[in-house]
Amino acid sequence: MRGDVLIVGAGLTGATLAERFASVGKRVLVVDRRDHIAGNAYDEHDAHGVLVHRYGPHIFHTNSKKVWEYLSRFTAWRPYYHRVLGVVDGKEVPIPFNLQSLRLLFPPRLADLLEEKLVRRFGLGARVPILRLKEEGDEDLKLLSEYVYEKVFLGYTLKQWGMRPEDLSPSVTARVPLLVSYDDRYFQDTYQAMPEEGYTAMVRRMLSHPNIRVLLRADWRDLEGEVRYEKLIFTGPIDEFFGYKHGPLPYRSLSFRFQTLPTPWHQRVGTVNYPNEHPYTRVTEFKHLTGQGYLPHTTVVYEYPEAYVPGQNEPYYPIPREENEALYQRYLDEAKELEGVYFAGRLGDYRYYNMDQAVARALKLFEELAYG
Ligand code: FAD
Ligand code: UDP
Repeated sequence: MRGDVLIVGAGLTGATLAERFASVGKRVLVVDRRDHIAGNAYDEHDAHGVLVHRYGPHIFHTNSKKVWEYLSRFTAWRPYYHRVLGVVDGKEVPIPFNLQSLRLLFPPRLADLLEEKLVRRFGLGARVPILRLKEEGDEDLKLLSEYVYEKVFLGYTLKQWGMRPEDLSPSVTARVPLLVSYDDRYFQDTYQAMPEEGYTAMVRRMLSHPNIRVLLRADWRDLEGEVRYEKLIFTGPIDEFFGYKHGPLPYRSLSFRFQTLPTPWHQRVGTVNYPNEHPYTRVTEFKHLTGQGYLPHTTVVYEYPEAYVPGQNEPYYPIPREENEALYQRYLDEAKELEGVYFAGRLGDYRYYNMDQAVARALKLFEELAYG
């Protein structure tokens, strides 16, 4: 087999790079060891006709006009603002924890005082990471930070990562800051929507180019030596590529339990988080995301975090921590020695990318390689 560019991985990173190289006349071969395209963003209709995300709920959000316009060439969008409730002290309150959560959990006079202090200290609309709030000197804000830390972050993070928030890069918990606002949306990005026919349909369009050939159920290891190409772009785990020679990079995995219920709706919003009870972290009801409100039944997914064991489950989350970054850098140094081989994506770059960041990174790499 021959091609100008061999891309390992048919996820959003691989699909973006394939589409871009094909558009400038290169012949591209995309291989993926799974039996489908779209990587972890893969969605499909279950036996009951509900559009579900096999690898966990995926909600698209970005501040990048470039990424938004790029993907809009391959899909129409369904406007959707994701909302999340967290169960705290037996009440469902908005997550990220916001001024409304404060009012639902604290007596009115104390809530007034805390709101006033938060607005004065950070400004209305501010996004304050919990680990930042914990450093506040003011006694009342300190009390609030300890409450939110204990009730929203600690149990959830212990479940999700097997670690305390302070043992991870602060960027992890900063993804869900305390919001000095009554905005109860999970994300505040400029563009928020779901691909009208789903992610798989969008990626299929990206890959539908006469210059692109896709080979599924094909592990790159088995093809090595059989395919000739000028450039190899690898979007699988970088440590696996190098045979784990410096030791395995840590990842966190999940197992998903899907359940279809004979009722039109199961919960009030797309996702309900359980920081303090149950072995699962959150429950997502797909119909909220996809707009299939007309169906008489509904499908939900429970997420159970677990250790990653190569060969047994999937490396869903790189674990952002200084020592892991140092190990990744050793692999990156190896990567720089190779000619014509490039790494990208959540696993190739060992970065906790959202979908838009994966696409942005792929667009940038293409520009570097094609015109750089
Ligand atoms: P992937 O989608 O992982 O694709 C990599 C592909 O490479 C895989 O298909 C794999 O089979 C293939 N591969 C690996 N090694 C080999 C090999 N040796 N040979 C052949 N093929 C190989 N992002 C958001 O923006 N919003 C969300 O709501 C969101 N929710 C998420 C929820 C969960 C539970 C998870 C795990 C992720 C979520 N993400 C979300 C992140 C999103 O999944 C990623 O940003 C995106 O899918 C990254 O795309 P990728 O192409 O880099 O990687
Ligand atoms: N988090 C938490 N409680 C919550 C929501 C999030 O402690 O109710 C923390 C937790 O550490 C989680 C991180 O914030 O892993 C990022 O959350 P996000 O929802 O962005 O995670 P993802 O959707 O990527 O799994």
